[in-house]
Amino acid sequence: MTRVLPVSPAAPARPDIDTASSLSFDRLPLAPATLANLQQLGYLQMTPIQAASLPLALAGRDLIAQAKTGSGKTAAFALCLLAKLNPRRFAVQALVLCPTRELADQVTQEIRRLARGADNIKVLTLCGGSTMRPQISSLEHGAHVVVGTPGRIMDHLQRESLDLSALDTLVLDEADRMLDMGFFDDIVTVAKACPTKRQTLLFSATYPEGIATLARQFLRQPEQIALLEQHEGSKIRQRFYEVTNDQRLAAVPLLLKHYRPVSTLAFCNTRQQCRDLLQVLRAEGFVALALHGELEQRERDQVLIQFANRSCSVLVATDVAARGLDIDQLEAVINVDITPDSEVHIHRIGRTGRVDQVGWALSLVSSNQKGRVANIVKTLGAEIEWHSLSELPESGDADKPLMPPMVTLLILGGRKEKIRPGDVLGALTGEAGFSKEQIGKINVTDTSTYVAVERSIAKDALRKLSAGTIKGKKVKVHLLKDQG
Ligand code: ADP
Ligand code: MG
Repeated sequence: MTRVLPVSPAAPARPDIDTASSLSFDRLPLAPATLANLQQLGYLQMTPIQAASLPLALAGRDLIAQAKTGSGKTAAFALCLLAKLNPRRFAVQALVLCPTRELADQVTQEIRRLARGADNIKVLTLCGGSTMRPQISSLEHGAHVVVGTPGRIMDHLQRESLDLSALDTLVLDEADRMLDMGFFDDIVTVAKACPTKRQTLLFSATYPEGIATLARQFLRQPEQIALLEQHEGSKIRQRFYEVTNDQRLAAVPLLLKHYRPVSTLAFCNTRQQCRDLLQVLRAEGFVALALHGELEQRERDQVLIQFANRSCSVLVATDVAARGLDIDQLEAVINVDITPDSEVHIHRIGRTGRVDQVGWALSLVSSNQKGRVANIVKTLGAEIEWHSLSELPESGDADKPLMPPMVTLLILGGRKEKIRPGDVLGALTGEAGFSKEQIGKINVTDTSTYVAVERSIAKDALRKLSAGTIKGKKVKVHLLKDQG
């Protein structure tokens, strides 16, 4: 049975008592410590997908739940699997499959935050791109919850380093993406390695045919929930620009100068178009990076870190390369070439306008692509706005170059050198004398540390970090440039 739930566009700013009580986490059978933790996290009300799925999931039902990106699906399954967990039992009781390492890391973090109210619960991430040994030894030390990508989970099952015999919850997160990436067989294999008596929760942003096939294979009388909420105009503002193919690439800098978004994700349909656009943007002085399939994991991390810490204005990507990308603050998405697939379009633009922010979704459409827009209109069921490039004024602010607010400094040294974010922040705000507000995100990887600092203090910060010490040692520091 499918429950299709219409969702009112925006949650009321001041919920009346009725709404407040029906969306309150209190009405769920959750432990008081969990409820207190949710309060602390600022999760005051359930999101629509949580309200629709949690009562069923907590009652032990299998679920197929569909809701757009950013709607709070992680907590919807995490609260369920955590509620069933027995912390005193040192065995893997829940497994979450995710399409990419980045998503698996995010899910792990969210589960850990949600588990804070409970006893010592160990959550372990198992993904490719990291060596097996440490993963195996972590497994030997015992984990309650495992989050990982299908390929790596399969590797562990083959080596018998992962035992799923005590599992009672299996989650397939972003199932549509996993299918796109060709994980169907791997998912089936992993599911077969789980006990048949278990709860299976499938979450997805879209509902392609493959999902039903997957569900028929190993979900038990699932309840199907579809939140057919489209991206409401109030948060994602869509504009369609008619262009000729010759104008297409040059239109991107025009839009950027006009709308002046701090962070923009620009979607191209081909890798060649990505390369061409990157060239155009750099020639106009933008700080832009490209995400493409040929990057090594370390390079990909570096690109994502610079984009997420706001030291890169534009990230140019194909749909494939952007898979699994989740950025909290994204002021604009530009569809350099509008996609023929309206589901893909909705997925692309859903990355902007997240929780209480407004985002621009700007699409460039040539006259032979107008059919694609008609398709999108049908799926969205909404009126759309056509605009023309000639409306974009060429003077005023549009003359000023658009620079990212931050700059990334690369410190040679990371976790292996026992560097922690606090050490770097300390070095910059201590002797170096900068204020906390001038320092942005700090990412520590195994061998490197990336710190975002305000553009205006970049040189000064570089000099002071190079002259000073971190953890009592001198460090090598570079300014990360945008040659990608
Ligand atoms: P999805 O998996 O549907 O794309 P996420 O689970 O990543 O979405 O959630 C998106 C954001 O919303 C996260 O930053 C999360 O912490 C936040 N969030 C989730 N549930 C709530 C809630 N009930 N109240 C406030 N914020 C929430
Ligand atoms: Mg998710």
